[in-house]
Formats: sequence, C-alpha cells, structure tokens
Amino acid sequence: MSVTTNAAVPFHRASIGAAEIDAVVEVLRSGWLTTGPRVREFEEEFARYVGAKHAVALNSCTAALHLALAASGVREGDEVILPTMTFAATGEVVLYLRARPVLVDCAPGSYQMDPDATARAITARTRAIIPVHFAGVCCDMDPIIEIARQHNLKIVEDAAHALPSNYRGRMVGTLGDITCFSFYATKTVTTGEGGMATTDSSEYAERMRMLSLHGISRNAWNRYTEKGTWRYEILEAGYKYNLTDIQAALGRVQLQRCEEMRARRAYLAERYSRALVSLDAFETPSIENDDGHAWHLYVIRVNTAALSIGRDQVIEELRQRGIGTSVHFIPLHLHRFYQEQLGYHPGQFPVAEQNYETSISLPIFSEMNDEESDRVVDALRAIVREFRR
Ligand SMILES: *Cc1c(COP(=O)(O)O)cnc(C)c1O
Repeated sequence: MSVTTNAAVPFHRASIGAAEIDAVVEVLRSGWLTTGPRVREFEEEFARYVGAKHAVALNSCTAALHLALAASGVREGDEVILPTMTFAATGEVVLYLRARPVLVDCAPGSYQMDPDATARAITARTRAIIPVHFAGVCCDMDPIIEIARQHNLKIVEDAAHALPSNYRGRMVGTLGDITCFSFYATKTVTTGEGGMATTDSSEYAERMRMLSLHGISRNAWNRYTEKGTWRYEILEAGYKYNLTDIQAALGRVQLQRCEEMRARRAYLAERYSRALVSLDAFETPSIENDDGHAWHLYVIRVNTAALSIGRDQVIEELRQRGIGTSVHFIPLHLHRFYQEQLGYHPGQFPVAEQNYETSISLPIFSEMNDEESDRVVDALRAIVREFRR
C-alpha cells in the first residue's frame, strides 16, 4: 500500500506547469500588465484553434454571454430560450438586458437542451437561443440551427464546458452566431478568471470589443502606444470586461496544452466507465461521440433502487472517504429567484429535475493520476457493499 492511499481526492486541481508560471512572470517583468500584445496573440491563436474568424478575449464567460446577446440585438422585452439545466450565468445575462429568460427542459434521457421543447417555446418576442454544451458534449445543433433559421433567431452558445469539443467534424466555436468560452479556475483551459467570444462576424466582434472597454472607440493599448493617440470617443455606455495580459499569457500556454489535457481526461473517463460498468447502483455517462467530448465533467447517475441511501447520502459517504464531488446543476427553475420573480415552479421540467436529483459529478482533471481515479472507484465500491438494498 502506498503512503498516499488515504489522501483526499479533490474535485478539481488546476494543471499549472513551469511554462505557465514563466509566461506570467515574463508579463510581470515587461511593465505592461493589462490588455495588450499577449491578449491580441491569445485571441488570434484561439480563433485559429477553433476555426473562427474572430475571437474577443473577455474577463469571464458571463461577460462574453452578456456582450454576445447585446451584439445580437437582444433588447428589453425580448425573450431568450435557454435550458433550465445550466449555471446561474446563462440566465442572468438575459436579465442584464431586461429580456426574459425562457427555460426549456432537457431532451428525454439527456442532459442537453431539448430541440423540440425549444421549438415549442418560440413566440413573436423570441430573439435568441442559448444552447449549453453540458459536460463538454455539443448539443444536437442541426435541429437548433434549423429552428433559428426558420424563425430568424440568433444562436449564442454557452460553451463554458466545451473546449475542445466538436459536432459532426466542426469545432465548437464555429457553429452558432457567437460562441462563449470560460477560463474559470475549474474549466478545461484556465486563466484563473477569463472568457472568450468567437464569431465569424466582424460586426459582432467589433461591437463586443467596443462594449468590453467602456464603449469607447479604441482600446487602452492603442491609446498608449506610438500607434495610438490620447483622443478617444465614447460611442455608448459600455462595460469593463477586458482580459489582462497576465491572464492571456497563462491562457496561451494552456491553449497549447488543450489537446493533451483533453486526452488525459478522456483516458480517465474511460477508466471510470470500465471500472463502474459492473456496479448497477451507478449509471455511467453515455458516450455518443467521444472525440467530440471535452470531458469537462464526468457525471454518473445514482440508481437509488439498488441502494438503501439516496444521492445526497452517497455524496456525503464519498466526502467522508475523502472524495470531492459536485452536482451540475441545480436547475434554474428550482431556485427561489426564478420562482418568485419569473413564475417558474417545481415539476415544470421533469427531465432536468430527474437529472438533478440523481447526478453526481466525479473528479476528472488532467492532473489526476491513476491511483486517484482508483480511489474514487474503490470508494464507490465500498458504498455499494455497505448500502446495497
Ligand atoms: C462556468 C460556467 C459559466 C460561467 O463562466 P465564468 O467564466 O465563470 O463567467 C457559464 N455557463 C456554464 C455552463 C458554466 O459552467
């Protein structure tokens, strides 16, 4: 037995190597800390990587979603369709623009937004759809793109989980009108905090860039180089959403390691699935398109009929055995704000509720070693032995 046998397995540990540290130190020594040459390089490299014409670096995916909706013309009184099975950010950005988030359920047996429910939710006020590529699996985009085309709607993708991911051979980042990525600390590529919006439209890209820095006509970097002047013009009330060179330097190194880190997570996912297939208390994620899966999350379902304890107690038993887990997500319509302010109620989206009530996200991150993944499996086996019905 190794000495580390009882060490805790965290839900996530970021993979930051010497190259990331050196890149950040170089920026610190350069004297230019905020948006500048590293951000421009990161944007160009990111756009090239996903195959989009433009990439706009922002300080979060939430900011990217906000500006993407603003650039697509979402206004007060509009409706925006999104899955209830998502994080707070996807819904709140609609409210930033005084539009209404219209929630839809997951497709039966799936964690992804239901295209049929999406079609049924369309009204004369619908302006946009926000598909969320849950766990790193791209939504079934063909029917969603067709619905958007028929009704003249914009598609803003929440791809916070989907770097890198693809759909029928096309990278996520090139499918909708604008795609939004997250570089939050637990995401597959991180800058601590950060985000990126990709698009093929130069109009959208320019508008997002302008809005990201106070709505002024040129950015700070241009203003303070020999190319720039002191003169600037405020075109509209903007925001302060720019990414810094410190973050971009980190992001450029992470982006180079993106495929290698994905391969490691895919390996860990397969290892989990092989080990857990014999336990009827847990259902492993179905894999329709493994090389299109970012494996940001590995979500199992607890088959409570096979155990004398429920999902919450399984999480507690894992915690007591030193295994960090999470739940993705508490559907938006089950939150008090959505019920009191927007009139949603429990029971409205049964697939999402069933997903929520039975799911556990196990640790999966590129720094995870085989022993750690074995420890997670051993803990699940021990729980089954102790609580088999
Ligand atoms: C993490 C996450 C976000 C928000 O990303 P930030 O970069 O933290 O703003 C949005 N949507 C989903 C689905 C997420 O998981």
